[in-house]
Amino acid sequence: MKTKNLSIKIVIALVLGIAVGSVCNLFVQSAFVDIIDKYLFNVIGQIFLNLIFMLVVPVVFVSIVLGVVGVGDPKLLGGIGLKTISFFLTTTALAIIIGIALALIFKPGEGKSDLLKSEDVSSYQQTLNKDNSQGSAAKQTFDQTLINLFPKNPIQAMTDGNMLQIITFAIFIGIGIIMVGSKAQIVHRLFEQTNEILMYIITMIMRVFAPIGTFGLVAHAFTGAGFGAIQQLGMYFFIVLLALFIHFFVVYGSAVKLLGNYSPLKFFKGFLPAITIGFSASSSNAALPVSMNCTKKMGVRPEIASFVQPLGATINMDGTAIMQGVATIFIAQISGAQLSIGQLATVVIIAVVASVGTAGVPGVGLIMLAMVLNAVDLNPAAIGIILGIDRLLDMTRTSVNITGDAACALIISRKEDKKLASQSESI
Ligand code: ASP
Repeated sequence: MKTKNLSIKIVIALVLGIAVGSVCNLFVQSAFVDIIDKYLFNVIGQIFLNLIFMLVVPVVFVSIVLGVVGVGDPKLLGGIGLKTISFFLTTTALAIIIGIALALIFKPGEGKSDLLKSEDVSSYQQTLNKDNSQGSAAKQTFDQTLINLFPKNPIQAMTDGNMLQIITFAIFIGIGIIMVGSKAQIVHRLFEQTNEILMYIITMIMRVFAPIGTFGLVAHAFTGAGFGAIQQLGMYFFIVLLALFIHFFVVYGSAVKLLGNYSPLKFFKGFLPAITIGFSASSSNAALPVSMNCTKKMGVRPEIASFVQPLGATINMDGTAIMQGVATIFIAQISGAQLSIGQLATVVIIAVVASVGTAGVPGVGLIMLAMVLNAVDLNPAAIGIILGIDRLLDMTRTSVNITGDAACALIISRKEDKKLASQSESI
């Protein structure tokens, strides 16, 4: 089946899921809707999600190894790594600034101080007290984070799904294969063949399950969505969405055009299948196999897609950073706190770090928000206020997160193409 047909089917499934889920949401108390949601929407959605997650660890590992080997020279790899990280950090900082600026202009939290007295705050406080592990991810110190980049046990890292450790291990294996050279040819071939098999499985899962799975995931999310809370928190919801749209279209659109000399329209269209998966699964990791497929089809060099996108799905979260920026200002406004310029700068820096530390799975961005709030002396329990509407925002911000990774891969790949072309011209 043609990719275009599949994309259309997935988009139809998405729209149908939103429509059916929203109707079910009206009758969410009824036993019938409860059964349909639990045994139909949720089951098909979760099966699809598990099928994709089944591939994430092997895909990340094999891709990064092949990406490193494909670049071929550890020095060149260092250069690409540096460009990738510079792009990630710059766009993330821009994302937070857009979020903060819009929140300061529109003031979504003004006159809403009574929200602080709501039950949501006290119950989130209890969660924070009871389950310190929730906060511990957000409280990890810089030295621990650095130490934890290096796995003591790579198999453990894989069973835990610890992406950063898997990436580190894969980089070492890739460098090892380059250095050992012809003696490691069979291992290199094995990785290539495993990659072929994984890509085949992804394509098959997408063809067979993506439309129905997307429908299930989205219908389930909308059936349980707190639309009542959206009404109350409408301004916050709207500003996060607005900032996400601006970042998506303006920042990525112009980056792709100006830095990559590539048509933004073609880019967004080509990346649509991945965007729909990111949206329905709320997970950068889950969308990763499809994201890499999409960029490779746009002509991104496989070794660059394989290196940049898994790294991005793990550390580059512009959409999450936007939510964290808007949420911090929103919570400051309802708490009656005036943030100084210095504190706003702190929010930018800490939100960059928090988004780097956010895993590409549903909802973690909100947990990491505690780190930003702590840094400017705001009460992390206030996260309880926005918890109820976060799922829909999580879906949207995940699509933005993965689009940033793809834009970076495309730009770097096209710059490398240009460099190689000018080198071969001068020979
Ligand atoms: N769900 C987001 C992602 O996977 C992370 C978050 O913001 O919670 O990219």
